[in-house]
Amino acid sequence: MKTDLIALAKSFGFTNAEWIDASQIICDRKFREQCAVNACGVYGKCWMCPPDIGDIDELIAQVKSYSRGLMYQSVFELEDSFDFEGMQEGGREQSKRSRLLDEALRAEGYEGYLHLSKGGCGVCSPCAKAKGEPCRFPDRALSSLEAYGINVSATVKSTSMKYINGVNTVTYFGIILFRED
Ligand code: SF4
Repeated sequence: MKTDLIALAKSFGFTNAEWIDASQIICDRKFREQCAVNACGVYGKCWMCPPDIGDIDELIAQVKSYSRGLMYQSVFELEDSFDFEGMQEGGREQSKRSRLLDEALRAEGYEGYLHLSKGGCGVCSPCAKAKGEPCRFPDRALSSLEAYGINVSATVKSTSMKYINGVNTVTYFGIILFRED
């Protein structure tokens, strides 16, 4: 594949995108405990979130089975540090960009990759899990970096991206993991 994936990601509005080696990805199984606190309110309510997404050690092993990843971020401006509506709006926009990027990847013929975005799948609202029904779009469903145990703040330290991008901003990340060289 010769597609410039950094340019492709930026075409969907992501602020930055960068190739990283799998060895740069730092995982921590403690993220499962943080998910269980359910600060986002999605724990146990989405097939792509814990605990339904699977055992944390198996998911971390899956992450480590890839050789490199395209990490990307979106930085959104907020009115102030209490602008929770702005944070949610940014989160929805990040999920939308990730879904569009994923569609573009599939259209380009990419397969066998693992695409992780921000918390909660976001394809359906609510997730079919709410009715105890199977996932409606398993080919389009997206899980999150944290659900797979990726420590984003530690991982970005070895990249040109910053985890925090100034006062009155919120930053969301995603990564697409590939096995090819
Ligand atoms: S695609 Fe829909 S049903 Fe499947 S995990 Fe995502 S939100 Fe849930």
